[in-house]
Amino acid sequence: MEITNITATKVSTESWGEFVEFPLVTVMSKYEEYRNADGDNPQARRKWMGPVGDVVVEVETNAGITGIGHGNWATGAIETIVDETLSKLVVGEDPREREKLWDMMYRATIPFGRKGAAVEAMSAVDLALWDIAGKETNKPVYELLGGPVKDEIPCYASNLHPVDLETLEREALEYAEAGFDAMKLRFQHGPEAGRQGMERNEEVVKTVREAVGHEIKIAGDAYMGWDVRYAKKMISRLEKYDMEWIEEPVIPDDIDGYAEIRKSVDVPISGGEHEFTRWGAKELLERDAVDIIQPDVHRCGGLTELQRIDAMASAHDVPVIPHTGTNPHLHFIAASTNAPMAEYFPIPEWYKEQQEDKDSTYADAIYQNPPNAEDGVLALPEGVGLSAELNREALDYFTVE
Ligand SMILES: [Mg+2]
Repeated sequence: MEITNITATKVSTESWGEFVEFPLVTVMSKYEEYRNADGDNPQARRKWMGPVGDVVVEVETNAGITGIGHGNWATGAIETIVDETLSKLVVGEDPREREKLWDMMYRATIPFGRKGAAVEAMSAVDLALWDIAGKETNKPVYELLGGPVKDEIPCYASNLHPVDLETLEREALEYAEAGFDAMKLRFQHGPEAGRQGMERNEEVVKTVREAVGHEIKIAGDAYMGWDVRYAKKMISRLEKYDMEWIEEPVIPDDIDGYAEIRKSVDVPISGGEHEFTRWGAKELLERDAVDIIQPDVHRCGGLTELQRIDAMASAHDVPVIPHTGTNPHLHFIAASTNAPMAEYFPIPEWYKEQQEDKDSTYADAIYQNPPNAEDGVLALPEGVGLSAELNREALDYFTVE
């Protein structure tokens, strides 16, 4: 079999118009104009993040099989790297030789790659190659990965933005009633908001804990918005709420900071969604930076690399709970004995009421069979390959130049 062509299509939520962001602390909250702690600056995140977007990569073969993968974030850069560099390397090659193609793509992009957009572009191509492998053998990819090792995939409800405490309480109850036994909230404040902000962060955790009781697992995400000193103090205050993990307390390059926080608090620390390749994961693991590692298959180097990260993590007794719950992640989790659950983004009632015209996320819309949790669990992904059949009409709608 031979790869004959690669296409990269940029999609984004641009056509939905104004992007309304919830109050939450982010890596940019250090700067006032990018802060939306109280919901009074709803465009804050769009200002630096732009519209949320993906690049859908299709790898065509002379066998009539097309593999589909996607990468996200820096969509223009990913599109360019696929078109101008990766396509030259892989067109004419056998798509089944994933190890070789991964290594070639990695080496050829070293001068501008290793982390960030180049590895995201490689991830999309690697996923498309796995999709081809599944389609060729008529098997779901989790079978090619040696699984399944689970009948279904436990997942946690990931949302709980601190809009206001009443809405938060209602949302937490909604998830508990829907059968989720784990959920993740977002913090609102970082060091810039001082003691009052700390109190407010604690109130958010307290509200969710009191709403759902003690049987339910609660995690919290700081989205890189804290520093080491703040994180130590803040997390110590939260110890009494028995949290499952605190995610990305500081920027990903502060690995020593991660390790210091982890040593000084009694709450598991997680991170890794902004880390790349096995070498990035190796640092986190060997320097005792995380209790849980959270690679993203669309960023870290695809499924080929995620398997290596998983093997290393299991040798450190660190579970893998991937960032986001796309179908490729579900195939991975289905086949891994070291990946206990998936992230899942329910759309809460209050949001549906506010945004009546948007009844799904665009990422769900462009695929024919998006994950759909029932009773707090996901079924094993359906179909052959990576369950990645596109909904062409939706893809056209969200495509941007
Ligand atoms: Mg996160």
